[in-house]
Amino acid sequence: MDDVIVVGAGPAGNNTALGLAKLGHSVTVIDWRQNIGDKPCTGIVGQECLSKFPIDPSLVYRRASSANVVSPEDLSVQLDAKSPQASIVDRVAYVASFADRAQAAGARYLLGQRVLQIVPDDDGVSVSTEDSTFRSRSVVLAAGFGSPLVRQLGLGSVPDHVSGVQAMVATDNIEDVEVYLGQNVAPGFFSWVAPTLPGRALVGLLTRRKAPAHLAKFLQQLRHAGRITEVLKEPECWGIPLRPLKRTYRDRVLVVGDAAGQVKPTTGGGIFYSLLASEIVVEVLGQSLTSNDLSAASLSEYQTEWKNLLSYELEAGYSARRLFEFLTDHQISTLIRQATTNGLHEQLINSSESSFDWHSQVIGKIMCNPAVSGVLRLVNPLLAKFAPTSDVPLALAAAIPSYVDPLGQRAH
Ligand SMILES: Cc1cc2nc3c(=O)[nH]c(=O)nc-3n(C[C@H](O)[C@H](O)[C@H](O)COP(=O)(O)OP(=O)(O)OC[C@H]3O[C@@H](n4cnc5c(N)ncnc54)[C@H](O)[C@@H]3O)c2cc1C
Repeated sequence: MDDVIVVGAGPAGNNTALGLAKLGHSVTVIDWRQNIGDKPCTGIVGQECLSKFPIDPSLVYRRASSANVVSPEDLSVQLDAKSPQASIVDRVAYVASFADRAQAAGARYLLGQRVLQIVPDDDGVSVSTEDSTFRSRSVVLAAGFGSPLVRQLGLGSVPDHVSGVQAMVATDNIEDVEVYLGQNVAPGFFSWVAPTLPGRALVGLLTRRKAPAHLAKFLQQLRHAGRITEVLKEPECWGIPLRPLKRTYRDRVLVVGDAAGQVKPTTGGGIFYSLLASEIVVEVLGQSLTSNDLSAASLSEYQTEWKNLLSYELEAGYSARRLFEFLTDHQISTLIRQATTNGLHEQLINSSESSFDWHSQVIGKIMCNPAVSGVLRLVNPLLAKFAPTSDVPLALAAAIPSYVDPLGQRAH
């Protein structure tokens, strides 16, 4: 009987396996994919992520210190930071590098096997695949977005999500990350072009409905504009959680990463938060295994800790995301024009609050800006009234009656 079975070999599962194996626990990781880490993902991670979870430099395609944002009315704004804010990396190899180190530390990997059922009992947990049933003292569910195993374990499902879709394309003239906004490309969200290897880029978008159809149209626009020459890998679609599970633990089980909804709701980026939350899994589960107390009460410490770290960011990000979805194309264009005219974009990108991974302070600063609150007044007068408080979740809760605090608490 293993100490831990980890379901899912993404960033969350592999880093959990690595940490627990290093502590001397016996760990088995099960994933239905043969190729570890190979799910639709652009692989853009912030510098903070790479300094905390280092990468072999040969896996970094590009370091990005600038991005080009294109408004719905085709106003193009160049955001230039003084130093690189993020890197575009070989996501599959980066994720696999955690698995390699976990295996070197003693973790066992079973690939090509789908977990169908997880049943905790008084003495352990039964984990069943198509072929076998395994026993362990505990399970870490790191199975990514939309896993039915979460609901099966009585932990519900993430309350909101968006669809992401991405294709790999050939191009010869794209050097910077490009972000496009507007109903025409990605209603309520955004689309992107991210250059990877020379002559290649990943083109994708997030939106609530008909994501593949929107991407097909966007690819056609890029082709007509001479920006891309051909599609090298057909589009793949995947879900992205926008809000976390209410409960991420029960007796003998913890849920982490996309499965728990630990994703930046502003951008849909989840690699860094998955890795951070998996560190907390290692700490809490490591202690519970050693003290042989795998009760829900003992494991609840995991939720307390990850909420302390992430919940305000998740709330503020979700509020900003919902607000953005209410904006018309004209309002988005006006906001961008205002921000460029009064230099707000430069102040923000080079301010000490600016961070690729932590967005609440910048969101607060944007909400407090007089030009921005002028536009917000058009969207909802109540929202503009609350904007100067810079408590974004509070502002949104007041302005949008259907808004429900996902975590049932304010993090401050
Ligand atoms: C189009 C797109 C682009 C993205 N771009 C970025 C980006 O640039 N930067 C960023 O930070 N984030 C990005 N993300 C989000 C990021 O990919 C995820 O947040 C991150 O991979 C979450 O890691 P995870 O370990 O929780 O889950 P995953 O990486 O999804 O891993 C879960 C693993 O569990 C396995 N699994 C699932 N069910 C079972 C089962 N029943 N049995 C066995 N195995 C199972 C899966 O095969 C998978 O390997 C993007 C997402 C999408 C959709």
